[in-house]
Amino acid sequence: MTTLGPIDGEHPIPHHAIRSARIFGGDGGESEVATVYCPLKERSATVTECESCRRFHALHFDAPSRKTSVVCHSGHATSDTESADPLAGVSEHVNPAAPLAGIMTRDVICVRPEVPVDEIAALLVRHEISGMPVVDADGKPVGMVSRADVIRAAHERGDTEESERVTLHPADVVPLDIEQGFYVYEPVKVTARDVMTPVVVQLHESATIRQAAALMAYEGVHRLPVVSDDGRVVGILSSLDVLRWFGRSCGYLIPPTRKRG
Ligand code: SF4
Repeated sequence: MTTLGPIDGEHPIPHHAIRSARIFGGDGGESEVATVYCPLKERSATVTECESCRRFHALHFDAPSRKTSVVCHSGHATSDTESADPLAGVSEHVNPAAPLAGIMTRDVICVRPEVPVDEIAALLVRHEISGMPVVDADGKPVGMVSRADVIRAAHERGDTEESERVTLHPADVVPLDIEQGFYVYEPVKVTARDVMTPVVVQLHESATIRQAAALMAYEGVHRLPVVSDDGRVVGILSSLDVLRWFGRSCGYLIPPTRKRG
């Protein structure tokens, strides 16, 4: 939780970390949905909604962490801000009833089901992540795709082996009605839909860390999408996020990392 200092002599007013879900489509297009958790409405609100809210004060950009927040007179601070302060969260008390919103990754990269696997591989490398949600047209999770899924797909379509060479003789060419020369088979396009693991469990943004840890352990998964009331992805929680939180809660100094599990 981060609270902005007094403004114009007023009491400190809370700010709410903005979460963003960037969704990559199969046509190369990209869209972004920015939300905050509104403590008054007890649900996610889009930043556009905040800007027209009578309690809205300003957008605040924190240069060290490069994060933007909504500052408003909601009267409550939310605990979903990952501070740039490496000592943030250090405590001698483990509180597993704390909301998972405080430890999840808020800037999520998502893909639509029709995005080719090659593009997913590029996104995983570019954003230094090991998995991402696959979402439908409404931004609701339909699957999860991981680095392992991409490697498996590449192996299964033969990218790791040399293909058998085939020579066409003129006699073969005639019946096929093609000119003599080199021909390349158009590879079958493998997309997120083909390699993803369908989403069977997800976490609501109001869930606690202990509920999240129990669910991940029970289901044997390393990452789960976090959704708002309307089912849209607002974050992603990995087992590494839970371990980082546990280490910090036990008093160990664990600096924030750019990598997202
Ligand atoms: S600006 Fe309004 S909608 Fe947005 S978080 Fe504050 S109280 Fe909620």
